[in-house]
Amino acid sequence: MLKQLNPDLILMDMYMPNCTGVEVARIIRQHDEFLSTPIVYLSGETNVALQVDAMRLGGDHFLTKPFNPVFLNAIVKSKIERYRALRRTMYHDSLTGLLNHSSGKHMLDMLLSGVAHEGGFLSVVMMNIDHFKQVNDTYGHPVGDQVIRSLSWLLKQHLRKHDILCRYGGEEFLIGLPHTDAEQAFAVMDRIRQDFAQIRHPYRDTHFLASGGIATYPLHQTGDALIKAADEALYQAKHDGRNRIHADEN
Ligand code: GH3
Ligand code: MG
Repeated sequence: MLKQLNPDLILMDMYMPNCTGVEVARIIRQHDEFLSTPIVYLSGETNVALQVDAMRLGGDHFLTKPFNPVFLNAIVKSKIERYRALRRTMYHDSLTGLLNHSSGKHMLDMLLSGVAHEGGFLSVVMMNIDHFKQVNDTYGHPVGDQVIRSLSWLLKQHLRKHDILCRYGGEEFLIGLPHTDAEQAFAVMDRIRQDFAQIRHPYRDTHFLASGGIATYPLHQTGDALIKAADEALYQAKHDGRNRIHADEN
């Protein structure tokens, strides 16, 4: 249920029909993805030692019944806000706001299991800025950062809400396009590549280029296999002269 709902907060009783809240909390905390999900108890338990125990074993806050609804509302609201902010920093990259490496891979696996269930295609793209080392060497690191940001902006503008967009490494992006075959993925990514090449950066009116590699499910079956094949296609694009998208055809 938790995996399905992905809750912002868990509000629960201490004593429930088949188990105690503490037992539930201990199980929840065994899963990494729910390690910091706020757990608030709402219970008639007035024994402070038991309340402290409940907190020690995975709870974040203890409210006793009868409760003040205004106070409950304030606690829940502030815990949720703080948890959402924490989640943003945990799963997103600070330079671009895109998903970071590990959450990008995780989301790709999730997307893949959905597509595998429904049927259809899923394309994975690795996109990498060309000769980026030279950008840094010539214009400095802050300008390099700005160029990374500009590509991430462009990707955000062109891609759909349910696509995966992740900063996989320094100047490398991982993109997941559900219900998109290799040909459609090529059309989308080649457009982005052309638009990126058109951007005039405010430093001596320069422009920068990027390359991409595409691999598609069901030809490649797992997240890792898709990433590896997309990476190989990217390598081919670089090898063929850069500033191009290469679709894996094996
Ligand atoms: P290619 O065309 O083959 O992709 O060559 P490249 O120079 O882009 O690739 P290479 O992997 O040799 O260099 C990538 C450079 O990216 C090296 C590193 O200094 C730089 N880089 C990595 N992360 C960041 C970052 O966050 N900001 C900036 N400004 N530079 C970064
Ligand atoms: Mg590069």
